[in-house]
Amino acid sequence: MLILGSHVSYKNDTQLIGSVKEALSYGSNAFMFYTGAPQNTQRGAINDYLTIEALNIMKENGIALEHVICHAPYIVNLANDQDLDKYKFAQEFLRNEINRCETLGVKYIVLHPGSATKLDRDYAINNIIKGINNILVKEDNIVILLETMAGKGTELGINIEELKYIIDNIEYKDKIGVCLDTCHLNDSGVDISRFDDYLREFDKSIGINKIGCIHVNDSKNPINSHKDRHENIGFGTIGWDNLLEVIYNPLLENIPKILETPYIDRDYAPYKQEIDAIKDKTFNPNLYQDILEYYHK
Ligand code: FE
Ligand code: FE
Ligand code: ZN
Repeated sequence: MLILGSHVSYKNDTQLIGSVKEALSYGSNAFMFYTGAPQNTQRGAINDYLTIEALNIMKENGIALEHVICHAPYIVNLANDQDLDKYKFAQEFLRNEINRCETLGVKYIVLHPGSATKLDRDYAINNIIKGINNILVKEDNIVILLETMAGKGTELGINIEELKYIIDNIEYKDKIGVCLDTCHLNDSGVDISRFDDYLREFDKSIGINKIGCIHVNDSKNPINSHKDRHENIGFGTIGWDNLLEVIYNPLLENIPKILETPYIDRDYAPYKQEIDAIKDKTFNPNLYQDILEYYHK
């Protein structure tokens, strides 16, 4: 079965209920949320009544809890220990995020591994490993999914070798995995038209069973551009056919596919129309017009 959804909002007053309802309005059976604004680390407490209601709505509508993904805020940088207070805060924040996910029953947390900034890359990668090992405990029932990064600036986790090195050094192997992002892969130099080659290499080195989520995005920029600007499916440099091959790859069937494609005219979520097109396996060249019409009627 195709497991497909998008990034959705999460507001403190409705919490997971709002996220689930948004996901359902797009025809999704999976979704990804941030427990607050992705750019900051202010977070409210989880309300169990709202969670229970959200779980009921999910059950009624066929969204399995293991297909719900949390994304840690992208300002958390476990790679940089130049300011020890900030390094400690990043770990504390991630620890609290794990606790929030455990309260919600959400198992997968996507994490941008970090950026080396002025530090040596090897040293910075070891900070990530230390940071994760510091906060994970044996009892945790979550999996941190390291996202494959585009290689913008000094980002880490931009190829199989770097991800493998981190994973190999995490103490609790069952609590670490990978989230592939097709835009990031393209921008980091992976040819998505030869995705099978990449998967084979990934499997040999890290193991396909470590993939817990796939961010399906087209890219505004050519392969190896190190940019990280997402585009709507079929409108970028990766293209419709190549992305459909990823989405319908039989080896990845049970893995949630999450769209993080850009809103139309800043305000209009494209996900219902993109998900419809993906389910139909038919590229919709009128996506923009259809979305504007849908929101204005
Ligand atoms: Fe991400
Ligand atoms: Fe992503
Ligand atoms: Zn991105």
